Amino acid sequence: MYGTEQTMSQKYTGDLRETTQYKAGNVEINIAKHSGYCWGVQRAYDQTVATAKTTEGPVYTYGPLIHNPQTIDELRNVYGVNYVNGPEDLEVGTVVVRTHGVPPEIQEQLRQKGVNVIDATCPYVRVTQNYAALLLKQKYHVVIIGDPKHAEVISILAYAKGEGTVIHSMEDIDRIPKNKRRLGVVVQSTLILEKVNKIVNALLARAQEVRVFNTICYVTTERQEDAESIALSNDHVLVIGGKESSNTKKLAIVAELHGARAMLIESEADIDFSKLVNAKRIGILAGASTPNWLIDKCKDRLVEHFSAVVAAA
Ligand code: SF4
Repeated sequence: MYGTEQTMSQKYTGDLRETTQYKAGNVEINIAKHSGYCWGVQRAYDQTVATAKTTEGPVYTYGPLIHNPQTIDELRNVYGVNYVNGPEDLEVGTVVVRTHGVPPEIQEQLRQKGVNVIDATCPYVRVTQNYAALLLKQKYHVVIIGDPKHAEVISILAYAKGEGTVIHSMEDIDRIPKNKRRLGVVVQSTLILEKVNKIVNALLARAQEVRVFNTICYVTTERQEDAESIALSNDHVLVIGGKESSNTKKLAIVAELHGARAMLIESEADIDFSKLVNAKRIGILAGASTPNWLIDKCKDRLVEHFSAVVAAA
């Protein structure tokens, strides 16, 4: 650990959270404790690599395994694992279902074709899928708070047999059929709690009964708390992760909401040093699908740059 002094532009409601700290020239770099692959992503990655090493014939993932281009490249180039976009894209071999899950009918279609299916759906997403099925069975109209285009939400909706309504913003609430008075709610794992609270409150005003399963993943909560703490104790924040990664984008939003200048980058090549000229403390956040080696590369690039700036002065 390095240093103790912290400058706070706003009062942080929790304790300052543990970081790994580095000194580079006159700049301090603080990496959030919870950075890099979460448990569910590590599990899916390990399953895919183990499958590629031990299975005869081609191995695919169903859609990109996770939203991180470097990991997708690594799976392709090192382990020979490509991804397919639908059952029509393959006839034989083994397919690993990604962390976000897929509709059950797709798994069935694959099995009927004779494809070997390895299910790497994150168990937390599986719980949400099961809640959606349970709510449907108990005659609730299923409401999924989340992004309708996200693979996780598409898979959850399929477990409600496509009969639910996806709510992405307050404006979508009117899309719930007027005659549906018993609402059963589940939530995309990466959402921000404040947004969910607002939508649930609005649902209470239009239904007789609202049953809510808070299915925001603990990983999301943990990292959003880190994002708040990092934003309040650093003058600049780098958020490392795939541009398609929902949880990475949310970290940048949370950091900006707490006053930080957040720079969303996919790799060290994206660091825009012209925006870091006056930096004294740089915080680093990374999404749940960002590999640790990539975080190290970004940190090393910062150390190299700011050490060189001091050496040249
Ligand atoms: S963020 Fe949570 S739900 Fe998503 S893969 Fe990781 S552990 Fe699973």
